Amino acid sequence: MALTGLQIFKLLPGTNCRDCGYTTCLAFAMKLAAGQVSLDKCPTASEDIKATLGAASAPPIRGVTIGKGERAITVGEETVYFRHDKTFVRPTGLFRMIDPNRLSDGEIEKHLDDWATIGIERAGELFRVDGIAMIEPAGSRERYARLAEAISRRGMPVALMASTIDGVRSAVEKIKDQRPLIVPSPGVDQSPFVALAAEFKLPLVITGKDLDDVAATAVDAAKHGVTDMLLEPPAKDARELHQNLSRLRRGALDRIHPGLGYPIFLRVAAGEFDKVVIGITKFASLVAMENAAGEAWLPYWTLRQNIYTDPQKPLQIDPSVHSIGEPDENAPLLVTTNFSLTYFIVSTELDGTGVPSRLAVVDAEGMSVLTAWSAGKFSGEKVAKELRRLGATEHVKHKTVIIPGYVSVISGELEDALGDGWRVLTGPQEASDLNAFFRDVWQPMMNG
Ligand code: SF4
Repeated sequence: MALTGLQIFKLLPGTNCRDCGYTTCLAFAMKLAAGQVSLDKCPTASEDIKATLGAASAPPIRGVTIGKGERAITVGEETVYFRHDKTFVRPTGLFRMIDPNRLSDGEIEKHLDDWATIGIERAGELFRVDGIAMIEPAGSRERYARLAEAISRRGMPVALMASTIDGVRSAVEKIKDQRPLIVPSPGVDQSPFVALAAEFKLPLVITGKDLDDVAATAVDAAKHGVTDMLLEPPAKDARELHQNLSRLRRGALDRIHPGLGYPIFLRVAAGEFDKVVIGITKFASLVAMENAAGEAWLPYWTLRQNIYTDPQKPLQIDPSVHSIGEPDENAPLLVTTNFSLTYFIVSTELDGTGVPSRLAVVDAEGMSVLTAWSAGKFSGEKVAKELRRLGATEHVKHKTVIIPGYVSVISGELEDALGDGWRVLTGPQEASDLNAFFRDVWQPMMNG
């Protein structure tokens, strides 16, 4: 069970030395109990205390990493049942399943090229295929190893969907350094796969006829040296899947069985969209999808993005100056806040005008324009400071900045703060009126 703040406080040195950044050990203990800091921030904690607290404060669901390098994916480490209690931390990995029994090597290589390079940016997140789940081809160990290498060469994490121990061993021996996930077929004897995962220290999917069986098998695998596991709940239909995913998460968080404290794996057959949606919304850590059509991925990614944003933090993008089209030094310079929704609406409307421009996105802690202004985050002085910090004022020679119509009240203060002959032009209240604004205000002004 997790320790309370007071229990943790009693184990800390009690010197109030402030090295952790908090004024007292009690304040630090409270933050630690809430999971908002890590124990390593207290340099004077004894090893004994670290061991005690470390075990007590470890996430109830183990973090497991699949793959190596920039595209490696870590799943697990969740601490809550309801997203609004805190947040979900590790977005569901979405893997594309490939069946070499239906495709030639050339076709597979082409698919891999496509899936390795596809990337769609939305609200500050890059949507990509997170990894490839490769089904074992019938009768050719060499081919399995070759195809596994082809995936690794592209830097993508691999799940080896194995039906035979010899087949998966040949692939594992080729790409063991890439930390592939070993996924035995449901119903096979798992003991040789457990031995293989232990030998190469690789993550392994544990299956079972029911949740008790899954948990007991996980404990047994841990005894045999497997540390990183994912659990695959049995489910004959969507209803049972929903129930079992919920039971697994609840059981892990309540630490009712040591075999439940692992991320969850889900394999989904072609056309089982409901299972993918249940998996993303209800605790699946990694979903391997067979033959999911391209048009299904965008909704899946979008759903996942919405589930895995922190409900306590507004969706925001990094402050910077964005070019719309190919603006020169005479192009309009506009300013807005770094609330993602505001940025996407304004940049899309700007793009639609066909007028090349620059959009300075200033740090307003992810608030929309009016909210930021009322909170003192979008005052004339702050906007001026941000425009200078971002170098926005160096891009244009007309020394004019266009502010959102809703905050015309800051124009005087902003002009004073910018100084140096800068002037402030109040733009439209709605981004949809930018086209008319450019036509009726900006262009006559620049031409006249
Ligand atoms: S660093 Fe450790 S001993 Fe010092 S105040 Fe923080 S918790 Fe207490």
